Parts: sequence; structure tokens; C-alpha cells
Amino acid sequence: MIIDLLSIDEEGKTFSFNESSDEVESLFTDLIGKNPFTIEVLVKPLGNSYQIQGRIQSHYGDVCSRCGYDIEVPLNGRMNEIVVIEKERPRNTQVSQSQRSLDESGPDVTYLKSPEFDLAEFLHEMMAASQNRYPRCVDEAQCEAQQAPVQESQAPSGHPGFAALKNIKLKH
Ligand SMILES: [Zn+2]
Repeated sequence: MIIDLLSIDEEGKTFSFNESSDEVESLFTDLIGKNPFTIEVLVKPLGNSYQIQGRIQSHYGDVCSRCGYDIEVPLNGRMNEIVVIEKERPRNTQVSQSQRSLDESGPDVTYLKSPEFDLAEFLHEMMAASQNRYPRCVDEAQCEAQQAPVQESQAPSGHPGFAALKNIKLKH
């Protein structure tokens, strides 16, 4: 999904997507599976560059980084990016494609060689960056309890490790 930045007027342009939008169908399946999502993006000219702001909301299945149980992780991402279309640069000049700012709250800056902006690739990157690398159970107490050593008599039914143990048959 390539958008021509030059075609966007001063008012800016809003893009909205969800899991039934044709343009982004199966774009995020490697990240969130078939889960529903909503994306709102506003692309607006800002002087000689473009400002891209928006939000991503979804949820996906992962494993708790503390207790190891399968959990549902909410995803709430915000985008704040400045896209700069660069004029020709002299040869041999190394240009990094994307320059991440050190200040987390400030916008990131991306340099493009032409006004053609790949929105799909950008959104995929944003979705990946919004995922929690160390997801945890929402219920702290339950997470704590699930970390306790499993004893056969008190084992919560449904503990994945315990279920696996039951299926092991010893050969004599
Ligand atoms: Zn947990």
C-alpha cells in the first residue's frame, strides 16, 4: 500500500483500518494472528516534511514472562513519526533509512528518497514495536499463585506442565 505524500493537502488525510480492510488483510498475521485490530492514522504536511500520527489497538495471545501461562495481551500503540523527503545527495554519502530519536517521547524521523511512502510496511513496523516483549498476567495474585511449585494434590487443573506430565507413560 503505497501512498503519494504529494497528493495530501494541508488538511491532512486520515486512514482507518481494521481486520476487515482489504488493504491490510493478513498484513499483521505474523504478529497478532487473526485477532481484530483498529488503526487510525493521520498524515499531514508539516513544512517540508510530513507528520504521521495515530494509534493501533489490538490484542494477541502470548505467554506470561513470569508464570509461563498462555495469556491475552492488550496492544495499545501510538505513532508519532516525521517523514522527510530528501533531495538528491552526493554519492558516497551514507544515509540511514530510519533515525530513532533518543528521546522516547519525541517523534522518530524517517528519510525517504521519493514521495512514495509505503504505509503498509510502516504500519507493520509500528505494530511490531507496540508489542510487549515481556508480557505479564493482568491478575498479579493469580500470576503469583501460578508460579508456586506444583504439587500433585494441589495442582491447578489446566497447568500446561502438569497436563504434560500426566501423559508421560513409563516403559518397564
Ligand atoms: Zn503470569
